[in-house]
Amino acid sequence: MTRVYDVVIAGAGTAGLSLAYLLGRAGLDILVLDKRTKDNIGDKICGDAIAEHHFQETGLPRPSGDSLRKSVEGIYLYGTNLKYGVKIVSTSGGYVVDRHRYGQQLLESVTGLGVEVLGDAQAIDLYIDDGVAKGLKYRDLVSNEVRRVEAKIVVDATGYTATLLKKAPEKWMIEKSIERRDIIPAYREVVEIPKPIWDVDNLHLHFHSRYAPGGYVWLFPWSGDGHMLNYGNGIVGGVELPKPKYLVDLYAREVMPDLLAERKIVKAGQWVIPNRRPRHVFVGNGFLAVGDSAIMIDPATAEGIGYGMYGAYLASKVIVEAIEAGDYSQSFLWKYQKGYMSSPYGLRQARLDVFRIMLQAHSSDDIEFVIKHRLLTSRELSKARDEDDVISGFEKYMRAFKAYLRGGGHIIRDLDYALKMMRRVRKLYMEYPESPDGIHEWIRREEALFREVKQYFSIYIPGEWRAR
Ligand SMILES: Cc1cc2nc3c(=O)[nH]c(=O)nc-3n(C[C@H](O)[C@H](O)[C@H](O)COP(=O)(O)OP(=O)(O)OC[C@H]3O[C@@H](n4cnc5c(N)ncnc54)[C@H](O)[C@@H]3O)c2cc1C
Repeated sequence: MTRVYDVVIAGAGTAGLSLAYLLGRAGLDILVLDKRTKDNIGDKICGDAIAEHHFQETGLPRPSGDSLRKSVEGIYLYGTNLKYGVKIVSTSGGYVVDRHRYGQQLLESVTGLGVEVLGDAQAIDLYIDDGVAKGLKYRDLVSNEVRRVEAKIVVDATGYTATLLKKAPEKWMIEKSIERRDIIPAYREVVEIPKPIWDVDNLHLHFHSRYAPGGYVWLFPWSGDGHMLNYGNGIVGGVELPKPKYLVDLYAREVMPDLLAERKIVKAGQWVIPNRRPRHVFVGNGFLAVGDSAIMIDPATAEGIGYGMYGAYLASKVIVEAIEAGDYSQSFLWKYQKGYMSSPYGLRQARLDVFRIMLQAHSSDDIEFVIKHRLLTSRELSKARDEDDVISGFEKYMRAFKAYLRGGGHIIRDLDYALKMMRRVRKLYMEYPESPDGIHEWIRREEALFREVKQYFSIYIPGEWRAR
């Protein structure tokens, strides 16, 4: 008789392994497969930063031993000039990890719970029977044979590629493709530098239109002495621009020659980030997606590890209930879909997608203006992630007045519009349908809202790159 697992998870990234950990702890029979060799699991191109609160909210294992490179307090944001920074303080701080070792740490934790993990196994298709996912097909990359695995629930945790999700039957109404403007091409290096970074206790995001149009350059401490950095950039997708790597080299030479021009590159590579609100639908009959595959990310900072962990946390609860009830239908698994969309994470993600689109419509000089003239303070920026009214009416009026006097009227107008749209988006996401029945109408309203936002905010590209 063919073995039928409770759950098969394609992809052993942070989302897939987090889910495997939670389901393994619940005593379910799990198989995880990844196209990487087992030793390479975790070696993802990433900024490697994770906030502590995600571990508190999910109960997932924190990085420990040599997985942990550096504990950090918060994030500094800068516009064009590094002289003006605003710090977003996270009450519980965060970590910069060695992503490869952290992946290996998670792998050890799941195998310790009895989860089976298969390396060199590339998922290529869903195995569908009568409109229901009953397993998946994968290619054994050593023998090149195609094999089939059966399971009650199939999970796509393959990251950006979303390999299985893209094979879903049309009837499930899964959103398969996204706009190129919502994708961030990124380049990352781990480097050794001759002198330490000026502040080793915080992450640094430099919003600079020349070196990261529509995105930012990041500098994250990767060692306690500040002599190692995780360094890279992400730029807006769908626009003809220089390659991120070219811009990272330019930044090293022009902005930080003493720190970065002579850097020794330990690791380097490029990858893409799906950087927007969650997919409208990411569950089907016997199927669900988690992490980048479902698009779980903070669009303002491209922080996706913690969002995927939270998705895994919600998915694990619904999967355990589904297995107990013997019901793997899309209607049952919708509880996970609805749960994520109207959770604090889903609401924040959707609201910050409006904020991200606004940011991409502004130059880094505008961002510098906001920071320099304290149009949004550190406390307000931290609160703005979850709350719509972060400034009192009077204070808002005073700041708007000062900004107009200094020539920042257009920024105030845009901030006002974005806050209004963020309120509307939150309301819409709270009204996400309880079952698949109302989904067409919800998608229609959601798409109309984001179309309006994108029409209002066209992407800002600096003149030097526009001429190409
Ligand atoms: C340059 C860069 C910097 C980033 N910086 C940060 C940061 O500092 N902090 C943060 O929180 N987020 C960051 N992100 C985003 C973060 O990396 C992702 O959101 C997160 O890794 C998503 O986890 P995941 O498990 O969904 O996908 P992934 O980590 O991409 O894992 C997917 C796994 O699936 C496997 N796989 C893929 N296809 C198949 C297949 N067909 N069959 C079998 N296995 C398959 C892959 O080998 C991989 O192991 C960054 C992203 C990039 C590109």
